[in-house]
Amino acid sequence: MYGYGFYGFDPTYVLVLIGVVLSLVASANVKTTFNRYSRTRNVRGLTGADVARRILETNGVYDVQVRHVSGELTDHFDPSSRTVNLSDSVYNSTSIAALGVAAHECGHVMQHENGYTPIKIRTMLVPAANFGSGLGFYIFFFGMVLSLSPLISIGIILFSLAVLFQIVTLPVEFNASSRALVMLEEYNLLDPGEVSSARKVLKAAALTYVASAAASILQLLRLIILKNQRDDD
Ligand SMILES: [Zn+2]
Repeated sequence: MYGYGFYGFDPTYVLVLIGVVLSLVASANVKTTFNRYSRTRNVRGLTGADVARRILETNGVYDVQVRHVSGELTDHFDPSSRTVNLSDSVYNSTSIAALGVAAHECGHVMQHENGYTPIKIRTMLVPAANFGSGLGFYIFFFGMVLSLSPLISIGIILFSLAVLFQIVTLPVEFNASSRALVMLEEYNLLDPGEVSSARKVLKAAALTYVASAAASILQLLRLIILKNQRDDD
């Protein structure tokens, strides 16, 4: 997509391709794992929505609504509207995969409730990351085309903010999943055997965040290499 035109074939583009492959493998893996445990009903016959409501109630969180949203793997907690949004394959589903995802989103609720530091940092970085990932990239290449060193550096700094956001996302996601598994077991929502299946689903989901963080680090590395090559010329 980018990269040719400046030097003919750009070998650093290999770094981008590695990132793409990692992301594709991780997302294929989460789909397969989710589908496998989507077919296994939980023993108590609870739905994703039931589990989310029970977890919130047990923790005394009464001002967060559990809602149904369309789409696949679109589940998320929205702190601004105080809603846990569960997708088609989670909200009404009694599968172990659905319960794992529902509990994970409640894990994010509990992070907000308990003032978990990494999620505060992550929320602070959202605007910078949105700004930096798109614009940083274009400023960088604009700087390359116009041969303007300061522009190139600004592009790299902006893009670094997006990378930092992806890195801070990792502890947030891992922690939401570990909270989820503890709550599913402690509140007797899943049997121990079912918890280990839910763990596999959540682990696969966490790997997609690892893959995208790795991809953005590789992209950053590429921009730095391109800058250094140019400085050497
Ligand atoms: Zn999450």
